Amino acid sequence: IGDGGQSSNKSLLSGLMDTYKKSDVLSVEESIVNHVEYTLARSRYFFDDQEAYQAASLSLRDRLIESWNDTQQYFKDVDAKRVYYLSMEFLMGRSLLNALNNLGVVDQYTEALREMGYKLEDLIEKERDAALGNGGLGRLAACFLDSMAALSLPAWGYGIRYQYGMFRQTIVDGFQHEQPDYWLNFGNPWEIERLNVGYPIKFYGHVSVHEEDGRQIFRWNPGEAVTAIAYDNPIPGFGTNNTINLRLWAAKPGQEFDLEAFNTGDYVQAILSRQRAETLSSVLYPDDRTYQGKELRLKQQHFFVSATIQDVVRRYKETHTDFDAFPDKVAFQLNDTHPTIAVAELMRVLMDENKLGWTASWEVTTKVFAFTNHTVLPEALEKWPVSLIEKLLPRHMQIIFDINWRFLQQLRAQLGDDSERIGRMSIIEDGFGGDKQVRMAYLAVVASHTVNGVAAIHSDIIRNTIFKDFADLWPEKFQNKTNGVTPRRWLAFCNPPLRSLITDTLGTDAWINDLDLLKGLREHADDPAFQEKWREVKQIAKGKAVAKIADITGVEIPEHALLDIQVKRIHEYKRQLLNVLGIIWRYDQIKKMTPEQKSQVVPRVCVVGGKAAPGYEMAKRIIKLVGAVGTKINSDPAIGDLLKLVFVPDYNVSLAEVIIPGSEVSQHISTAGTEASGTGNMKFAMNGSLIIGTMDGANVEIAEEIGEDNMFIFGVRAPEVAQLRQERRSFQPDQRFEHVVSLIRKGEFGWADFFEPVMDSITSGGDYYLLANDFPSYIEAQERMDETYKDSARWTRMSIMSTAGSGFFSSDRTIMEYARDIWKTQPCHVPAPVE
Ligand code: PLP
Repeated sequence: IGDGGQSSNKSLLSGLMDTYKKSDVLSVEESIVNHVEYTLARSRYFFDDQEAYQAASLSLRDRLIESWNDTQQYFKDVDAKRVYYLSMEFLMGRSLLNALNNLGVVDQYTEALREMGYKLEDLIEKERDAALGNGGLGRLAACFLDSMAALSLPAWGYGIRYQYGMFRQTIVDGFQHEQPDYWLNFGNPWEIERLNVGYPIKFYGHVSVHEEDGRQIFRWNPGEAVTAIAYDNPIPGFGTNNTINLRLWAAKPGQEFDLEAFNTGDYVQAILSRQRAETLSSVLYPDDRTYQGKELRLKQQHFFVSATIQDVVRRYKETHTDFDAFPDKVAFQLNDTHPTIAVAELMRVLMDENKLGWTASWEVTTKVFAFTNHTVLPEALEKWPVSLIEKLLPRHMQIIFDINWRFLQQLRAQLGDDSERIGRMSIIEDGFGGDKQVRMAYLAVVASHTVNGVAAIHSDIIRNTIFKDFADLWPEKFQNKTNGVTPRRWLAFCNPPLRSLITDTLGTDAWINDLDLLKGLREHADDPAFQEKWREVKQIAKGKAVAKIADITGVEIPEHALLDIQVKRIHEYKRQLLNVLGIIWRYDQIKKMTPEQKSQVVPRVCVVGGKAAPGYEMAKRIIKLVGAVGTKINSDPAIGDLLKLVFVPDYNVSLAEVIIPGSEVSQHISTAGTEASGTGNMKFAMNGSLIIGTMDGANVEIAEEIGEDNMFIFGVRAPEVAQLRQERRSFQPDQRFEHVVSLIRKGEFGWADFFEPVMDSITSGGDYYLLANDFPSYIEAQERMDETYKDSARWTRMSIMSTAGSGFFSSDRTIMEYARDIWKTQPCHVPAPVE
């Protein structure tokens, strides 16, 4: 086991390969053809686009590996403090264009492929998205990796190599269907399989105790073990020589798996049962912000965390003989509670395998972990039954009980006999009927030196609600780190015409690594000539987005209409339903208009997209409602091109890269206090799309940065929500709201019975997300938007100001803050290769 190693004859070997591969057009052509012939074993005279994509990617991978190797060696040589970002999800998307851009070889590859008879744009489309995540949380992890690489931080990501990523969504008769995403079917040219980096991962069994040097030593005797095998994914940084690593673990049958089975005489059955091991890493759970206590999910968590801890401890011990310096060399960031079992696993490894005492182990543990909370929605807060952890991870359960016992002792010492508060803060929750649960968020808070929220408003909310008792006790533990997105993928690479215009205008492309420079666009915001150029580049992106949407939906999309987008996971709190109600109101208004009035209407194309968790019935009904309303509107001759509504299926990173640059308006309209941050909002604003939104999540800071007058803000504010919720039963909704609801109930769009539970959820005192409260101000914001769109100069100014004010939302800024305030780690620039 290990990814290091000594070469036997260094001088000979360095003479054989003393510099990097060349990247002139001819060298690129040679390397592509070499991969066609020797790796793919295809004829170099006949290979199709798929094979050309694979060969081009493999040739690029060679170049990534050179830099990856040098980077890892350099981190080791300087013994840098490493950051390990632990996440169950990494929503990476495609790699080809990203790697070409980061390595600065787009032109060479474009030309090499053109000379060989291929078009880069076509090959890019051959790549399957690496969709190892649900949405915002997983995509954040991917943006963070990009920024950690660009900032030359000595950081790695750790996660799971799911064989089936996020399901592919198809829409049949308006209903969502889920199809498996077997993204590895055609191979994955971006990963490096490390069959020599593998660790045993144990489950079940029992714990025994014995004496050693007068101390009690606990030994876990597992009932089952699988092997975790590493797959490395190089992450190149833009504008640096560094290439960092995303290490994903795949499960393979272990030597020790099912120890008894082979002795029962049924050899074939024993082999078949070994295959169960592989299912551990086979599927990503598609639930976004709901927690289900599935045993396999807990197994996945322990699987990737245990492999990671073993890997990190092994790496550390290569250069250290004790754990004194561990906190100076290692920082773990827990992306939500999903990897929190790592706390118990590190304690176990330190105590049981490295013979440290409890106190020393706890001191090390509490200095290395930091925890990011992503939600306050109660249904998303992870709690695992004690009985399940006891069965699956018996030693970990003992350790968690011990952590809690000592924590409660400490509380009693500090707080005296406030048993109610102490009970509230316990990591173990006493359920009714003796059904105890482990509150994973509390375990993470107790064990971490720092806890952060992901936008200013969200960090305030967690300090004042779910973690209030803890924030009162340890105020210094709690921080804010407002999310960000990588400006490479989400602006420079996905929107080349806008990239060129910005670079020409600012006279430099330094903004790509220093996004605050976008502020320099402000002085041009009122310049008619610049505005004209801005509209031209926006139009190019809009044309592409419209063509794509028309292509996948089969609906003709008028290009002159205002392009209004809401793409994100389908969730009641995100209120796609409010959007639909607003569209129905618009539709009904237009239907009643005279031709003269119609001529004043700003034509609108509404696009909704996103996946519903397969078991989330209400969200699925909302998707059907979008489809039903769209079908009616799109075929109504009285409406024509004045209004269209389409649902785009299978929203993913690649689709986002086309839709976001082309959009004119985007909707981020969650009930105030429910969206922790949002990152889609940042991507849209960066690309000059105007936001219609509530004062929720990062919208609040977007309003500060780009100016509230450059957005369409509406709705109740977070501090009012609790009160309004209490008063729901007596709330008298606006007539317009009641009218729209009645149209749906009456069957204007068909399926009246099917939509009834949806309508019930927002009426008669239901309305937990306060749609009725916000409907009037939403409609008014929509009207302001229509009026503004008629004034092209004003609209363009707002669009420019949106981009210009987006510098703060670069994930480079976010990651710099984590590095400075939480990880205490420095950039570590790998020297340029020898020419
Ligand atoms: N899904 C994909 C594919 C994304 O790119 C993003 C982020 O921009 C999201 C989901 C999250 O979107 P939001 O922050 O609007 O919920």
